Amino acid sequence: MAAYEQQIGLDPAAGASSSRAFTFDKNVYGHADVKNALKAAQHDKCCYCEGHISHIAAGHVEHYRPKTCSQQAKGQPLLYPGYYWLAYAWPNLYFVCERCNSSGKKNLFPLRDPMRRKLRRVDRRVEQPMILDPGGPEDPRNHIRFKKAAIAGISEVGKATVALLGLDRIPLTTDRLRHLKKCIAIRNFANAPSARMDLPTRQQQREARQLLTRLSGRDAEYSAMVTDLLTSR
Ligand SMILES: [Zn+2]
Repeated sequence: MAAYEQQIGLDPAAGASSSRAFTFDKNVYGHADVKNALKAAQHDKCCYCEGHISHIAAGHVEHYRPKTCSQQAKGQPLLYPGYYWLAYAWPNLYFVCERCNSSGKKNLFPLRDPMRRKLRRVDRRVEQPMILDPGGPEDPRNHIRFKKAAIAGISEVGKATVALLGLDRIPLTTDRLRHLKKCIAIRNFANAPSARMDLPTRQQQREARQLLTRLSGRDAEYSAMVTDLLTSR
């Protein structure tokens, strides 16, 4: 990396093209140990759509800030260099589903002010990304909410994140709806008057309440949607 930065320093155009981009070792950031650690930390959920991954696909290691090059908007030119110094940085890595990574984000990393994009490891510019970082510090729930299975941004960054990642895509919304219907059925039973229930049914109702708590837990699929369901009137 130091040699690459020296090259950039001597020739400002060195990092500006795909032919002279920094090269990375996928065996490092994509190593099974890295992927498994991310998968465990994220409870096998995609960092963007909150869907479970492993039962349908292998999942990818995602760079929040793209390593090779970045793109301010779809259809716009690729910008070199990317965030090469974050290629192996743990806070920049996430477990992601194929749809969110390959068909949605790819090299996309829009900034509120593209002129403030960092191009070097040591760069004093302060970026304001228009895609929420799943790891914070911003709480995604301050920017994105659910009305039943429909997702909506409630801030400018939230709206941009939903649109850029396609979090309102029909197959994903359909899958959320399938899960929501089960949760509603469990909620209705959990909240039903218990005065005339027999003992076995009351026990089942207690278990339904416990299940509802687990379904809105951080490790549960689509937990943000379920949390909004349980707190809605
Ligand atoms: Zn996803």
